[in-house]
Parts: sequence; C-alpha cells; structure tokens
Amino acid sequence: MTQFNLILLGPPGAGKGTQAGRIVAGYGIPHISTGDILRAAVKNQTPMGLEAKKFMDAGDLVPDSVVIGIVEDRLREPDTAKGFLMDGFPRTIPQAEALDKALEGLGRAVTKVIVLLVDEELLIARLTGRRICRSCQTPFHVLFTPPKTEGVCDACGGELYQRDDDTETTVRNRLEVYGRQTEPLIDYYDKAGVVARIDGAQLPDVTYKDIRAALGPADA
Ligand code: AMP
Repeated sequence: MTQFNLILLGPPGAGKGTQAGRIVAGYGIPHISTGDILRAAVKNQTPMGLEAKKFMDAGDLVPDSVVIGIVEDRLREPDTAKGFLMDGFPRTIPQAEALDKALEGLGRAVTKVIVLLVDEELLIARLTGRRICRSCQTPFHVLFTPPKTEGVCDACGGELYQRDDDTETTVRNRLEVYGRQTEPLIDYYDKAGVVARIDGAQLPDVTYKDIRAALGPADA
C-alpha cells in the first residue's frame, strides 16, 4: 500500500485549510494541524496554550521545542500508520529536521510536499475576510465564499468568527515570518525531490484536481 506522508506548505491564506479538508477525505489520512492543536490549547487554557498565545497573537512562531513535541506525540497515535497530512508544520528548518528524524525512527519518510503558490495581494484579501466556524473549523470568506446566513456555518450551524491573528497588521507580520523562516523549506525538500508546486490562486476544486494529479490515486 502506498504511504501518503504528506506536508502542505504555503503562506498563510494560500488555502491550506480548505485543501487539507479535501485531501484527508480523499486519501483517508489524518489531518495534523499544529495551528488547530495550539488554538485548542489556548481555548482550554492549558500551560502550553498560555505560553503559545502571546506568540500567536503577534503572528510570530511558537518556539520549535513546543511544536516539535506536539508533532512527535501525534505521530505516536496509531491512526498515522498509513500516512498523514501535516498542515502548518514544519515551519522552520529545525522543525523539518526533527520531523525527518522522527519519521526515520519509524522507518518512514516524507513522500510529498505540496506547495501552494499565491501572490501576496490575494493572500491579504483572503486572510482579512476569512471567517471560521467555532465548532467544526470550516473556513468561509465574507466576499469569496460567504455562508448562506451571515455569521452561521453552512456545515454545522456553528458560530463563525474572525481569528485574532487575521487582522491586517498581524497578517503582514505572518507573511514576513513565512518568507523568512518557512519559504527556505521549499529548497530543503527540493533536495529530497519530493516537492509539487501547485497554483493556489485557482478555484478550490481546480487546485484540488492539480493536487490529486501530483499525488496520484489514493488506492495505488
Ligand atoms: P496556522 O493556523 O497554521 O496559521 O497557525 C497559527 C499560529 O500558530 C501561527 O501564526 C504560529 O504562531 C502558531 N504555529 C502553528 N504552527 C506552528 C509551527 N509549526 N511552528 C511555530 N508556530 C506555529
């Protein structure tokens, strides 16, 4: 059975959340989003959440040791045996090295890195208009993909909210942090020959079709 040990890479606003939902449904693998895990920790006011919040609100990265620990723990769960989709991790070279090491210990390796490419102006428009369901995390956009009823999730009826870090000033910092710390990962994974570059400015269905073409059939 083909293993799908996948990483979804791209700047904030590239559509990682939207595509992640489709990929995990299409390939039957778990979605590992460090952002979602950290936001849950903040909501539950755990010690890790309290430490992470100040970095997150400023649009800065949470220390590597914290997120690496989260991912190592998550990879011990049995549902990751046939593969996984990492979304928002790794974001720095030390995180990528830690992931390689953890997978090596399991006799595995990253099989594909999907990079979503979108230009900066569109990213800012997407992020500042983004709204997310508090209950099921489904993303909407006030202009591009509005819900049927304002403020209410089409999928589960939950309340839609704007993330604290989706304001314009924080968004600009997050994009700067992405360019400086995360973009070098594309080179890192190019060396392993596992990168698929995908145009993320297209309609979500078209982007997903390109991703599927790059990944190959789910049951190969
Ligand atoms: P995201 O939902 O992936 O955009 O993550 C939201 C915020 O969580 C980021 O701006 C960071 O502050 C923090 N975060 C999520 N994943 C990571 C990571 N791999 N490394 C460091 N910080 C992270």
